[in-house]
Amino acid sequence: MKITKIETIRVEEFPNICFVQIHTDEGFIGLGETYFGAEAVESWIHEMGANVLLGKNPLTIDKHWQDLVGFVGARSTGVENRGRSALDVALWDILGQVSNQPIYQLLGGATRDKIQAYNTCAGYQYTRKRPKHASLPVDNWNTEGEGPYEDLEGFLYRADELAESLIEEGFMGMKIWPFDPFAEASKGRFISMEDLKKGLEPFEKIRKRVGDKIEIMVEMHSLWDLRTAKQIAQALEDYRPFWYEDPIRMDNLDALRNFAQSTRVPTAASETLGTRWAFREVMEKQAADVIIFDPTWTGGISEAKKIITMAEAYQLPISTHDCVGPVSFAVDVHLSINAPNTLVQECVRAFYSTWYKELVTEVPLIKDGFVYPLAGPGLGTKLNPEVFTRPDTTIRESK
Ligand SMILES: [Mg+2]
Repeated sequence: MKITKIETIRVEEFPNICFVQIHTDEGFIGLGETYFGAEAVESWIHEMGANVLLGKNPLTIDKHWQDLVGFVGARSTGVENRGRSALDVALWDILGQVSNQPIYQLLGGATRDKIQAYNTCAGYQYTRKRPKHASLPVDNWNTEGEGPYEDLEGFLYRADELAESLIEEGFMGMKIWPFDPFAEASKGRFISMEDLKKGLEPFEKIRKRVGDKIEIMVEMHSLWDLRTAKQIAQALEDYRPFWYEDPIRMDNLDALRNFAQSTRVPTAASETLGTRWAFREVMEKQAADVIIFDPTWTGGISEAKKIITMAEAYQLPISTHDCVGPVSFAVDVHLSINAPNTLVQECVRAFYSTWYKELVTEVPLIKDGFVYPLAGPGLGTKLNPEVFTRPDTTIRESK
């Protein structure tokens, strides 16, 4: 079997997503995806990725992964690695279709039938636009969505009601990021006592209304310096958060360990890290208690499996990142169902109940707070045919 064509698909309504399809001479078509900088990733896939893959056997996945490592840009979640991640996912999808098995089966099978989920409290429109600046898009906060799951507005203004609604749907936890706007104002270097108290309000409301019936994940988006991150962590401890996620930038792992040791709340890191080499350092330094990665940023399914196994060797649980696109979410669930050390699966009810379904044929089932894997071969999902005929779709091919 040979790879005959590589095509990227972008839809202007979802400008941060880059889909990729790998075509073969036997009719199999593998689907992949990555998020952010979609046009740059598209360019890399055609300029570099296609040169490596066209005419090759799609089933030698580890070989292709190695051949796609660039001289520069190899060890991050930058454009090169996001492009490689998307291609790797598409190759696994082909392998699954050829074997007629779901990806989780090819990874070693299910270690559980379902995985407990927490809800990331984004709204329908969160990060849907092109960010106006390069750091995490606080300017891309948008609470204009209409429907029962406008959870971004929910955690900001009525966190108690939101917690009740999530408990009712069976979720074990909720992730919120009420400190982000203050980080934007000071570039993460200072938070006033007044703002700190404002940031604590949702936690206060949640614990007052529902007690300890739900876990709270605190997302800090790597926006803070070490001193301020520790100040916020300390102020939050009494509310018994489940974890502090990405408190600082992941460019000094000794500083991350310093943070982790300063608080009794577990530290989770990091979807911003790429490849096993970055995670090796996190684990060796014991800088995080929960290993979070995004398979479509860190190097694909191949790399995620290696990171999961390394984490297991360090007695560390993993949790895969969602809040991006529908293919990434499907990949997450295949990995989470297989990994023996999965703690919990992130999902976004505002996304999977609405626009994920506009883009793909199947979305993993979430029921009573648990996620179930897709059963079909490979990813178990495909792009909806309408995606290809929309007026705002851009398709580019290399063959
Ligand atoms: Mg995160």
